[in-house]
Amino acid sequence: MLKVDDVHVFYGSIHAVKGISFEVFQGETVTLIGANGAGKSTTLNAISGLLPRTGGVSFFGRKLAKVPPYKVVELGLAQVPEGRRIFLHMSVQENLEMGAYTRHAAGAQSLAADLETVFALFPRLKERRRQIAGTLSGGEQQMLAMGRALMSRPKLLMLDEPSMGLAPLLVEAIFDIIGNLHANGATILLVEQNARMALSIADRGYVLETGRIVATGTGRELLDSPAIKKAYLGG
Ligand code: ATP
Repeated sequence: MLKVDDVHVFYGSIHAVKGISFEVFQGETVTLIGANGAGKSTTLNAISGLLPRTGGVSFFGRKLAKVPPYKVVELGLAQVPEGRRIFLHMSVQENLEMGAYTRHAAGAQSLAADLETVFALFPRLKERRRQIAGTLSGGEQQMLAMGRALMSRPKLLMLDEPSMGLAPLLVEAIFDIIGNLHANGATILLVEQNARMALSIADRGYVLETGRIVATGTGRELLDSPAIKKAYLGG
């Protein structure tokens, strides 16, 4: 579904991503793990076209070289950015409705049905549908950011550090939801510093170190790997 081929990203003279290649197949949950600054977010932003890159990115065989970010969303690739970036002054429901803006042709009925689907996944958002998003807790804001992305009916959902800044119980709740989405057939590319949680729900994983992929395998293989345990799972 998604093919990333020898992608490089520079910030001025800083070579942040150094020739990364990987694939995500339909129905998979794939995770990119790595330490702070390894280039995980940069990789996602390069895929969605938010950052200039060299190398190839194709989605369902279509090259994304000249496709602007808003078109990338229309093609079915939605990103939940690091730090959520929800509309703080709008209500929960308004934020969710904004997520559907790329679906020009969608009728009110189909939007209402999608809202109900998102509310079924995140009952907490339903209770708080009229609340101003900026007053939600961190975990609720993460749920809202994920719900908003789902409103675009993505074919591939890219999540950038969904567990960031959340208390352990909420981290578990967020990972449960990601697992649920996966069980329902969603295709997910998950960037995480929480390697143990990410690998435990992922079909496959890639390990990034200073802009390069240094290991890959199934989630289980990486969890069991002595080198990965030592470097990323606290021994
Ligand atoms: P984290 O988990 O801390 O978000 P990451 O793996 O997502 O880390 P990136 O944010 O992709 O890492 O950063 C990769 C490298 O690029 C880092 O060395 C970072 O300092 C650098 N970098 C990121 N954004 C910029 C920028 N706007 N200008 C210059 N350098 C940047």
